[in-house]
Amino acid sequence: MNLTSRLPEIGTSIFAVMSKMANEEGAINLSQGFPDFPVSENLIELVNKYMREGHNQYAPMPGVPALRNRIAEVVKSTYGRDVNPETEVTVTAGGTQAIFAAIAGLIGAGDEVIIFDPSYDCYDPAVRLNGGVPIHIDLIPPTFAIDWGEVKSRITERTRMIMINTPHNPSGVVLEEQDLRKLEKIAEEHDLIVLSDEVYERIIFGKVHNSVLKFPLLAKRSLAVFSFGKTFHTTGWKVGYVIAPESISKEIRKAHQFITFSVNTPVQLALAEYMSDPENFLHLYEFYQAKRDFFLEQVKGSAFEPMGCLGSYFQLLSYKNISDRNDCDMAEWMTRKHKLASIPVSVFYNDGSDHKLLRFCFAKGEDTMRRAGEVLRSIK
Ligand code: GLN
Repeated sequence: MNLTSRLPEIGTSIFAVMSKMANEEGAINLSQGFPDFPVSENLIELVNKYMREGHNQYAPMPGVPALRNRIAEVVKSTYGRDVNPETEVTVTAGGTQAIFAAIAGLIGAGDEVIIFDPSYDCYDPAVRLNGGVPIHIDLIPPTFAIDWGEVKSRITERTRMIMINTPHNPSGVVLEEQDLRKLEKIAEEHDLIVLSDEVYERIIFGKVHNSVLKFPLLAKRSLAVFSFGKTFHTTGWKVGYVIAPESISKEIRKAHQFITFSVNTPVQLALAEYMSDPENFLHLYEFYQAKRDFFLEQVKGSAFEPMGCLGSYFQLLSYKNISDRNDCDMAEWMTRKHKLASIPVSVFYNDGSDHKLLRFCFAKGEDTMRRAGEVLRSIK
């Protein structure tokens, strides 16, 4: 059969590849980002309760009203923004589906979308599958700062969208207020949509999260993507949401309804009830800051050099003092030989830039991180 691939150079996602390799090798898996600790019993009971009560049929397309109302409340208390749950909140099957629906609904043939590399792996293919043209701009370690001068110079009359991600996966850096101000100005000047991936909003250390929702002019032209998986340790439940002004939400929903129609009902109802108690999410940053610090303790005394991590549950380590292997080879070698799996950062660069960095997920129990530390300290 004469099959023309729409994504000829794309293989299986690095997260799946490395997790599979870790399983095959019996390696400690700090590659794919997911927590290895249990979900709240209370939350599990709530899902159960709603299932038993018979809430097992399709939810309304944009999400169950109870959850959208709760989200609007939390957005107000967290970011001070009033959002209309009817028209501006859409529940999605996780952050990735929110991003895909947004791009499918808003980006057409030839539209240019600015993406900062290292970038999460779904951004570029989502743009290309929908006929858009990704414009990649590199963020350079160790700061991974955005060069707003370069951004301005790459804008053309076809530029339609800028995608940002804060706290940032994989680097762990966060955007500062001045970044958002610059972005606001550029987006206004060139009439751009901003897609802001904020799934790690509550995993931020010693900093305030700069959501686009806090900046009135920016919020008018932005969609912000959030994920319950990150906040409640439920990445496998695949539930997230997107906040955007009505005009933008309308277009996202047009795509969303044909991608998945709606998201599973009992989990939405359970989340709505669970989130009524802010204690269930307000302390997440402390929980993860302790994890990050514990992991860094384990890295001490090794030849690996940590980069700054101000948010997300990822820590980058440089191995430039250990090996001049490329990072993909290094990650594979460490998984097979030393039984510790990580993610090579070059896969997040469109041009494959190799800065000798590996990403480690610290959403893990102490014992796992302790064992990982022993491995790291043994590699010279
Ligand atoms: N967000 C997770 C990570 O960055 C992976 C999710 C996935 O496997 N697609 O590791």
